[in-house]
Amino acid sequence: MIGRTASRFGLVADVHANLHALNAVLSTLAEEGIEEIWCLGDVVGYGGDPEECVAIVRERCAGTVRGNHDAAAVEAALRASFNPHARAAIERQADLLSREALEWLGALPAVLELEDVVLLHAGCADPEAFPYVLGADDAERELEALPGRWGFYGHTHLPAVWRMGEDGVVEGLPCDPSGTAPLDRPGRYLANPGAVGQPRDGDPRAACAVFDRDGEELRLLRVPYDVAGAQSSIRRAGMPEVEALRLERGL
Ligand code: ZN
Repeated sequence: MIGRTASRFGLVADVHANLHALNAVLSTLAEEGIEEIWCLGDVVGYGGDPEECVAIVRERCAGTVRGNHDAAAVEAALRASFNPHARAAIERQADLLSREALEWLGALPAVLELEDVVLLHAGCADPEAFPYVLGADDAERELEALPGRWGFYGHTHLPAVWRMGEDGVVEGLPCDPSGTAPLDRPGRYLANPGAVGQPRDGDPRAACAVFDRDGEELRLLRVPYDVAGAQSSIRRAGMPEVEALRLERGL
């Protein structure tokens, strides 16, 4: 395992088996000259192309942490907490995934510590509980436990930036989902690039981010992609129709 990130690297989260969105995001990161990309989990679930997305993430990303859908694809007992359509989707995906892909998903680490950078899917205080960081209280719990200066997470599918100052006070920072967020003040940061494969902030474009560790700055990117193609894949794979419909609204 690589012990430290490049000084400038890409972040992708919540791919959710959306091959069309993943390819669009990877093209954009390539155009940006990004060579190193890290994945914040949930490679599978919801979308129509789980096996292909696993293969691409395995090959292209320097490392991947385990999301709740990745874990549930492997362990059926973990699907109990899913809502009915998410459960139907992950059951179908488990059938579509090769044994090799399932083994890879099952072996992913919950958290990756790369010196001052920490990668996680939902939380690091209790990673297996897959908590949602939606408010300052949630962010405070995670920032207190964060074993590094910058933590990057997914799971909520919502771009966000949180900071804990040296006085322990946590604040949510204004976050333009296709803008730049400086992460350069004293203290610790927790940031979410948004979802590649199933954005939920009302913008259907795929999300990803570039972190400049030396410049201490996060750039959030939104990338248009072939939503109709992703919807066709979902229908062809026999996923619930709701998963196709929500993509065009980004919800
Ligand atoms: Zn997710």
